[in-house]
Amino acid sequence: MDNCIYCKISEKRESADIVYQDDTFCAFLHPTPINHGHIVLTPSEHCTSLTLLDDETYSKLHCLARKLAKATLKTKQYDGFNIQYNHGECAGQDALHAAIHIIPRIGTDGFYLNWRMQDPESAEKRKELAEFIHSKTI
Ligand SMILES: [Zn+2]
Repeated sequence: MDNCIYCKISEKRESADIVYQDDTFCAFLHPTPINHGHIVLTPSEHCTSLTLLDDETYSKLHCLARKLAKATLKTKQYDGFNIQYNHGECAGQDALHAAIHIIPRIGTDGFYLNWRMQDPESAEKRKELAEFIHSKTI
């Protein structure tokens, strides 16, 4: 896609520090990282959501995310990592191209997931939601 930054990077129309690339995927260091070593892993072909990928590509993408995360640990600069996927603007998706973020962590980095816990919905609503989700996954 012409104006998509992730397409531009995978097609080498935009420069980036690429850490992995093959015919299907491209991974690069995020230009404005949450933490140093923050990697963006994308399918090379334009796709707005991981939910639209075929099962094989989706599986390979996640296996590759794990390999990249393990590679960051081998640098011995990091103590752990977060793997994150943002779907939708409300969830922080900043480019309309599916991506997994691998964010290396250091014990003293001071970065926190600022998610607050909420009171659970009523038992009836939870049951209804659980049954609906179950019906859509079988
Ligand atoms: Zn794209």
